[in-house]
Amino acid sequence: MSTKVRLLGSAVSHWGDDPWARGSWSLIGRHGSRADRIALGAPIDDRLRIVGEATHPTRAGMTHGAYEQGLAAAAWAADLGHRRVAVVGAGMAGLGAARTLHDLGRDILIWEARDRIGGRTAGVEVTGGTFDLGANWLQQYEENTLARLAERLGLTVVPTDFNDPLVFNGEPNPDGIEDDLRKRLAAAAPGTSVADVRREWLSEPAPWTRTQIRRLIDAEIVMDAGAPLDWLSAREGFEPGVGEGDRWIVGGYRLLTRHLAEGLKIHLNHPVSHVRVAADGVVLTGAGTTLQVDAAIVTAPLPVLAAGGITFDPPLPETHRTALSRLGAGRVEKVILRFDRRFWPEHGYYRIHGPTDTGVSEWLDATRADGTPTLVGLFAGAWLDEIWTGTDDEIAARAARIVRSVVPEIAG
Ligand SMILES: Cc1cc2nc3c(=O)[nH]c(=O)nc-3n(C[C@H](O)[C@H](O)[C@H](O)COP(=O)(O)OP(=O)(O)OC[C@H]3O[C@@H](n4cnc5c(N)ncnc54)[C@H](O)[C@@H]3O)c2cc1C
Repeated sequence: MSTKVRLLGSAVSHWGDDPWARGSWSLIGRHGSRADRIALGAPIDDRLRIVGEATHPTRAGMTHGAYEQGLAAAAWAADLGHRRVAVVGAGMAGLGAARTLHDLGRDILIWEARDRIGGRTAGVEVTGGTFDLGANWLQQYEENTLARLAERLGLTVVPTDFNDPLVFNGEPNPDGIEDDLRKRLAAAAPGTSVADVRREWLSEPAPWTRTQIRRLIDAEIVMDAGAPLDWLSAREGFEPGVGEGDRWIVGGYRLLTRHLAEGLKIHLNHPVSHVRVAADGVVLTGAGTTLQVDAAIVTAPLPVLAAGGITFDPPLPETHRTALSRLGAGRVEKVILRFDRRFWPEHGYYRIHGPTDTGVSEWLDATRADGTPTLVGLFAGAWLDEIWTGTDDEIAARAARIVRSVVPEIAG
């Protein structure tokens, strides 16, 4: 390994430990289905609605799904004639809801737990450039409402082909194996987990080797979900999104969230702890304050709600509680590495397999952001648990060593 390359700066995410996220994005557990997403988003008593990425039946786990759910909740509140509406959370769903209601002339107040807006879109400055520690891509680009907003704002977006990563320390997926996986998942009985499907598949490996099967599931499902495979639904856990024309935003998602938040009343550092629904309105309590409104739109992430981070009076209906227990979230974390020179081949997107069959990471070349050689790495599963220990500098140094040890260095 050459010693010439220097790491100029880095940033590391901690979505799994973040009390206002408790995971990366929502997933369907083995006893759940998309119907649970719809049930969770159903209005409660004409005064309360829970929405976010987790309540979109077909665009879950994505920013535009969250945003669209925010717009749907705004239309619901407006149709009911609510004048004064509180929005809990200033992520994509909350900003979508609040922006729409504000533009309709309603009185809106957002209570946000963190000291910033954006939720699981989170821009971070690293050695003079801005990068996303949360969402990076506008997925399903052609039918993505936020992509249309990005175009109206004149933002620069760069395509990524997730179906054609340059693979290091392993082989690309052999032809036909992905179709085989999809067929097996679709044919799985309700209540079956991805681990069940994998176990059966490994017992009859021909025509694929066990390593090919394990690495495929790691790359396609563990990397996409970050959840234990014995929890994740085989039939419903592998939802659409990735590989449908994804583009990342140069300058980051904050260019969209700042635009959406313009002119809105947002109270930062204001976690809501209790929501009481009465015949004449909704009372929110949090951070030593109470607020009475006509209706509330709650966009706190699913694991925050499932952990009782907000209590409800009366308690949430049985259908909502069942949905919360059948859905969950995984953990996918990011590292941003800025180098003094580019030592990896030009390709755009890379997959690096770990020393064992259950270690995988994927990497975006984000050099286009400002010309400084930059890699954005995503880790999930067993390898993540090994690497995400110690300080952020230690995690970043470990991740940089992985890249440098497997990527054949090109002349700088
Ligand atoms: C590492 C990572 C990579 C991702 N990559 C992509 C991608 O490339 N493309 C894509 O489309 N999606 C991606 N996603 C998913 C995407 O970020 C989310 O689906 C989307 O941002 C969720 O929006 P939301 O409004 O539903 O929730 P959030 O963004 O989580 O917003 C909820 C808000 O509620 C606040 N909150 C929580 N509890 C309380 C409380 N008690 N009181 C007040 N406020 C509270 C939170 O602080 C937060 O601001 C990624 C996510 C992660 C973590």
